[in-house]
Amino acid sequence: MIRFEQVSKIYPGSQRALQKVSFQLEQGKMAFLTGHSGAGKSTLLKLITAMERPSDGKVWVNGDDISRITHRKIPYLRRQMGVIFQDHKLLMDRTVFDNVALPLVIEGYSMGNIKRRVAAALDKVGLLDKANCTPVILSGGEQQRVGIARAVVNKPAILIADEPTGNLDPALSLEIFRLFEEFNRVGVAVLIASHDLSLIAKMHYQRLILQNGQLLDASQAAEVQ
Ligand code: ADP
Ligand code: ADP
Repeated sequence: MIRFEQVSKIYPGSQRALQKVSFQLEQGKMAFLTGHSGAGKSTLLKLITAMERPSDGKVWVNGDDISRITHRKIPYLRRQMGVIFQDHKLLMDRTVFDNVALPLVIEGYSMGNIKRRVAAALDKVGLLDKANCTPVILSGGEQQRVGIARAVVNKPAILIADEPTGNLDPALSLEIFRLFEEFNRVGVAVLIASHDLSLIAKMHYQRLILQNGQLLDASQAAEVQ
């Protein structure tokens, strides 16, 4: 589903953000990406969403080599994935419904179709009764769940989350992780970058650990756990 082959990334005028990173996230699997601030987590995720290009190596998503993807093909790539950010990037002057509907409106879905899909996505994250609220009045955990509903509304095969629980307390963080688990259980591949080591330790999934832009191998990883 996602495959990195000897991927390096050097930003202009700076040192290496990623160095010869290779890994594979298979279809329907869930994995955590950890490492200190500056280790390269956001960069790795940006290579998957084609917000950045690798300096060297190959990135495969859903069978396509996206290392040299053209601008024209980026919308097609992004349609296959849902992306969740720490600050959830919700539009605060729109309703919860409008926020979740946005990806479908951009795709030109019919209103009937949009209503049905948004209701289903909000139902999955337990916020159906908040559809007509503005996100401003919701709690931090609820706002993040709206972000998740928006990410899953067009049923992507892959979910990518960058520090999705960064602003949440441990109980709410666990709730968000459980939600990702539910999507994973129905076959969605999930990759979550997170600092939340105590929560990750409670969940038994593949762990990718970055240190100074390099992925630790199993024996090195055992030492830091
Ligand atoms: P995080 O730890 O969540 O990655 P950062 O503060 O490191 O947050 O980065 C915030 C944003 O700024 C990211 O989009 C990252 O790619 C970008 N960024 C980080 N370091 C630099 C830099 N040296 N120059 C330009 N942009 C940067
Ligand atoms: P993390 O997400 O693990 O905090 P990042 O991927 O944001 O790490 O950053 C990895 C390294 O790349 C850091 O040294 C950061 O300063 C640098 N970096 C990130 N984004 C940029 C950018 N847009 N321009 C220059 N340097 C960057």
